[in-house]
Amino acid sequence: MSELHKFLFEGLPVRGMLVRLTDSWQEVLHRREKANDAFPTPVRHLLGEMAAAGTLMQANIKFNGALILQIFGDGPVKLAVAEVQPDLAFRATAKVIGTVAEDARLEAMLNVHGHGRCAITLDPKDKLPGQQAYQGVVPLHGDRREPLQQLSEVLEHYMLQSEQLDTKLILAADDKVAAGLLIQRLPVEGAGNLASARNEDEIGLNEAYNRIAHLASTLTREELLTLSADTVLHRLFWEEPLLRFEPMVGDSGPRFACSCSRERVGGMLKSLGREEIDGIVIEQGRVEIACDFCGTKYHFDAVDVGELFTQAHNQPPASGGVH
Ligand SMILES: [Zn+2]
Repeated sequence: MSELHKFLFEGLPVRGMLVRLTDSWQEVLHRREKANDAFPTPVRHLLGEMAAAGTLMQANIKFNGALILQIFGDGPVKLAVAEVQPDLAFRATAKVIGTVAEDARLEAMLNVHGHGRCAITLDPKDKLPGQQAYQGVVPLHGDRREPLQQLSEVLEHYMLQSEQLDTKLILAADDKVAAGLLIQRLPVEGAGNLASARNEDEIGLNEAYNRIAHLASTLTREELLTLSADTVLHRLFWEEPLLRFEPMVGDSGPRFACSCSRERVGGMLKSLGREEIDGIVIEQGRVEIACDFCGTKYHFDAVDVGELFTQAHNQPPASGGVH
């Protein structure tokens, strides 16, 4: 079963999390296969890493709304999305136009011309009037404009920029498991106006983070994908004062769920305008929309479309989702 483990290092300003998406991740891929629309291997693995990273980031902040991790690409992959709700329900999809090589990495998939972007959106659940979603955007290249090949590097950059916290991320995915390890330096109380007498302590605490982040970076892709959470944490941190919390599994853990609905699809059709929709109904007899995330098909015939456009305007507009 998919699981999330949170932990602290007692007395040290360092915390961490480990996620393993198993059944939930396989369901994402299975639904895609069933729709006869499986993603190329490197795209599947990127999406798995995004789902794992999105889950870690959502669990790491206290935010009542969706965390949406999107990469807008200028290569064969135009868009890759992972969306994680506050209860850790997640979904993921991608839009691929063109051929993706079997060994393609981030640059070859999404950043061929250097215009790829990664956006992290925090979309509040119950928006106050005028309240906007928060969005942070980072490029897919490093400080010296070198193209990044790993999603983890892109996201470490984002975390440093948005939260001003050093973060170490290890991500890996195959067709069975999508997993991630996050190690983060916690802000030290009173930092910023430290008296010189405290600097030695400060240096010691920084060393603790560096040591733990280094241990984390020794974790191989193979280990992350195949070993249990207990084994990974023991192997890496058996000499550290590790304090673990109750794992989050089952209903309180990460799981696949899609938030699409007939109402939302209807709202999206309405936004396209009656003329456009009537045109499709005349041509094809009905409108068929399949959800990109879960594969559910929604049908609207002439009667449904008539109802849609004569309904009183008592529904909120459809959110600008990725349908
Ligand atoms: Zn759906």
